[in-house]
Order: sequence, then structure tokens, then C-alpha cells
Amino acid sequence: MVSETRPIIIAGAGPCGLVTALVLQNHGIPFLILEKTSRSKLCSDTGAGFDLAPTALNILIHRLGLSKERIDETLSRYERWYIATIHGDLVKDEGTPQSALEDCACTHRSALQQALLDQLLQNATTEETEFLKCNSSLEYYQEEEDQVKAVMNDGSILVGKALLGCDGINSKVRSCMNEHREDPLQYLGTMCYWGKCPREEVEKYSSAHKSNSSTFVWLLGTNKVPGSLFITPSNGTYRYLWFLSVPSGKPLSGTLDDLTRRGGAVLSEMAKTELLNTLDENGALDPVLKTVISGTPAGEITEAGLFDRVNLDLPFSSPRKLVALLGDSAHPQSPYLGQGTNCAITDAYFLATKLAGVSAQEAITYYDSDQRREEMKNLIEKARQQGNFLNSKNRFECWILRTILRYAPIDVDELKRYDFSNKNMLSRLDGIKAKSSDGGAMTKPILIAAFVVAVFAIGLRMFLQYW
Ligand SMILES: Cc1cc2nc3c(=O)[nH]c(=O)nc-3n(C[C@H](O)[C@H](O)[C@H](O)COP(=O)(O)OP(=O)(O)OC[C@H]3O[C@@H](n4cnc5c(N)ncnc54)[C@H](O)[C@@H]3O)c2cc1C
Repeated sequence: MVSETRPIIIAGAGPCGLVTALVLQNHGIPFLILEKTSRSKLCSDTGAGFDLAPTALNILIHRLGLSKERIDETLSRYERWYIATIHGDLVKDEGTPQSALEDCACTHRSALQQALLDQLLQNATTEETEFLKCNSSLEYYQEEEDQVKAVMNDGSILVGKALLGCDGINSKVRSCMNEHREDPLQYLGTMCYWGKCPREEVEKYSSAHKSNSSTFVWLLGTNKVPGSLFITPSNGTYRYLWFLSVPSGKPLSGTLDDLTRRGGAVLSEMAKTELLNTLDENGALDPVLKTVISGTPAGEITEAGLFDRVNLDLPFSSPRKLVALLGDSAHPQSPYLGQGTNCAITDAYFLATKLAGVSAQEAITYYDSDQRREEMKNLIEKARQQGNFLNSKNRFECWILRTILRYAPIDVDELKRYDFSNKNMLSRLDGIKAKSSDGGAMTKPILIAAFVVAVFAIGLRMFLQYW
């Protein structure tokens, strides 16, 4: 006999798990979140930030019931773009066009987590406050006729109506679902570092345009020192979030099992000095780049290899359709298209809303569509290509990137273009006919057009100089 009070079990309280929980709560559906880390670490600030595209913003601002003030505190806008090489040669310093300002934003992981958790706690009735179990790691599950048993690290068993795997790139739900299939992670040849640098450190060196709290700073590597550094706007807070990626043949060996650092490890003082020396090979490193790294204590810097999955054709749900994978557990991707969290939030909103209307089996069947899987596969492949391009060691590719960025208009549209699958998901949910266009496919023609324009502009300049 099926008990209606059996909860939906959510494994993982990242952005995906918390959005799922909030939607279920708004619909009065019982749920239980199992989270591997401690309560104090759940919203801890390791300096991680996310770009947010229009669909995720639409969900966060209009559909979750978060107050406008709370959302405004959480989001920052890219009002200005400052792009230079890591040696400080200016490529572009421009304001974001007004039309693009509202469509995209960025947020700190810790701020987003806290806002979602606060809302869950605020809405909860007294009986519901036990909805989050921290220090509880799901080890595997057993799917039965009409229920799922989640087996925990301490051996206890929880029984639910359905299990939603929101447990990130190293998902246990996924490894259990694919125990008889090949499903390894794929190292993407890139190491990344992120942290938070106190504002006054950067301001010591930077001129007004760089220190503006709503400026997005992007420093481009060269063929000799390849990589990319991003400093994201900080919405009036006391620190800058930065993210550096550099190509590297080997991933980090023993990483920390600290998933608030996305599986990465804390950098040692020695490794920090080594990193700075490698970047500053000829002593010509941009002072801002030097400052954000040297001004961030080593213990506040996370070092991690970037991974996605080798096999991109696996289902996002179990054969009985009582277990589903959402967010990074379903489609982990490199961060270069800024879509991981956007997809995670969309998955969460879509499936949880469906669960409010139909049975778990029907909702999961509808969620795990061929279209979404195909679109996610394309997105992951494009994110890989983008990462290779941005971290290229090839002199010609570095030059093309600089030239495109110098002459092409500011492209916040990039985030919007790759958001098309999420937009389609929301349209399906709202019963609106989704567009079939592959927005991502636009990139190649745009790159080619930008290249032709750049070659023409350079040719013209040389011609005028000569005459
Ligand atoms: C350097 C970097 C930069 C990024 N930048 C962006 C960006 O700009 N924009 C963007 O959209 N995305 C970005 N991403 C991707 C983004 O971080 C992920 O897509 C997003 O965090 C996925 O959310 P999630 O909730 O699915 O998984 P996670 O955020 O990984 O959360 C998973 C949660 O599950 C918990 N957990 C794990 N295993 C278990 C278990 N067995 N039992 C219980 N709980 C468990 C973890 O502790 C964690 O809390 C970036 C990623 C990286 C690495």
C-alpha cells in the first residue's frame, strides 16, 4: 500500500537540490534533503561564483517566491567589461549595452545557497523543519515496485516515493544507476583556481575602471602563458571573486573530499608561489592578476581539475522512472559557457513542478526527454571546445580571440544563446510550443564573421599606415 506521506528524497543540497526543495515546498509536497557536508559548510564562501542566464533568472526572480530585496542582494550585474591580456595590454573597456543588462547576472554560490535555504526555513511549518539532514551521505539506492530505498553511509535506510539525484559531478545516485555501464569522468586538460581577494588589495593597484564593483574583468592568456582569469562583479561586498584556468596535462592527485569546493583542494603556500612564478615567467604579469592571487591567502584558494563525462548518451533516469538525475549529476560540464547552474536550476524547477501535478513516474518520464539529453550533450561538447579555445597555446588562436574581443560588440548574448535548451524546457512546462533552433549553432558563423571583420579592419589599418 502506497503511503501518501512518503517524501520525495533529494540527494544533495547544492543549487539544484535547494531549488527542487523550494518548488516542492511551495506545492505542499513532502520532501527530505540528504546532504553530505555539514550545515556550517553548506553556505560557506569559498569564492565560487556563477553566471546566471535569463531562464535561471526568470525562475529565481519570478517563480520561487523569493522576495525582491533578497534576490537583489544576491545578484550582481555586469555593468562594465574590462578585457586585457595577462600582461596588461588593453583589449576592451566598455559599458554593457542597456538592453543586455537585465538578461544576465552573476551570483556568489554562498549567497544563492543562503537565500534559498532561508526561504525554505521561513516557509517551513514546525513539523517540516526536519527537512534537511546534513552530514548524511547517500551511498546507494534500491528501486522497488512503487518506492525507493536510499541507503545512507551510517547504514540507515530511508524510504521515499522517488529519489532525485542532485548530488553533483561525483554523484552516488548516478554511479548506482549506471553500475553495469561504463561511465568514467573525463579530465579536460585544465586546472582551475578560484578564491576571494579582499577589495582593498585590488584597489591598491587598479585604476577606476577595474575597481568598480560592477565591472567584469577578463584577462586573456597568451601562447607563452596560456589561460584566462575572470574577476566577477561583487555587488558592493568587501571582496572580489576570481577564477583562473590554465591548461595542464595532469589533474590534481588526491583531492579533498570537500564538495563545497566542488571536489577541489585547498592550495598550499608553496603551490601558490609556484603558480605565480609560472604566470609571471618574464616579470610582465598584469598587476591586477598578480594582486588578486598574491592578495588571497593560500587557504582561501581552491585548486581543482575540470572534468565532464566520457559517455554523453546515458539516460537521466532509472528504468522504473522512480529515480532521476538532475544538474551536474546528469550533465556535468566545463564552466566556459556559464551554463552548469542555469541547467541545474532549470532541471530542478521543471521536474519539481511536474511532480506537483502527476505521479512521480509520469513526471520523471516527461523530464528525461530525448530532446533535453541531446541538447545537453551538444552543450557539454561546446563547453569543451570553448575551454580549449580560451586556454589555447596556439599563437594564431590567441590572436583571433583578442581580435574578436577587441572589435566585436560585448557579447552577453553568448550566455543567452546557450540558454536555449533551458528556455525550451520552461516553454514545455508552460505549454508553449518550444523553438527548435539550436542557439549554440550560431557561434561558428559569428566567429567567422567576426574573424572576417577583424582581418578587414587590420588590413585597412596597415593600408592606411603604409600610404
Ligand atoms: C570553477 C567552476 C566555475 C563555474 N562557473 C559557473 C558559472 O559561471 N555559471 C554556471 O551556471 N555554472 C558554473 N559552474 C558549474 C556549477 O558549479 C555547477 O553546474 C552547479 O554547482 C551544479 O549544481 P548542483 O546542485 O547540480 O551540484 P553541486 O553544486 O555540486 O551540489 C551537489 C551537492 O550534493 C552534495 N552531495 C554530493 N554527494 C552526496 C551524497 N552522496 N549524498 C548527499 N549529498 C551529496 C554536495 O555536498 C553538494 O552540496 C562552474 C563550475 C566550476 C567547477
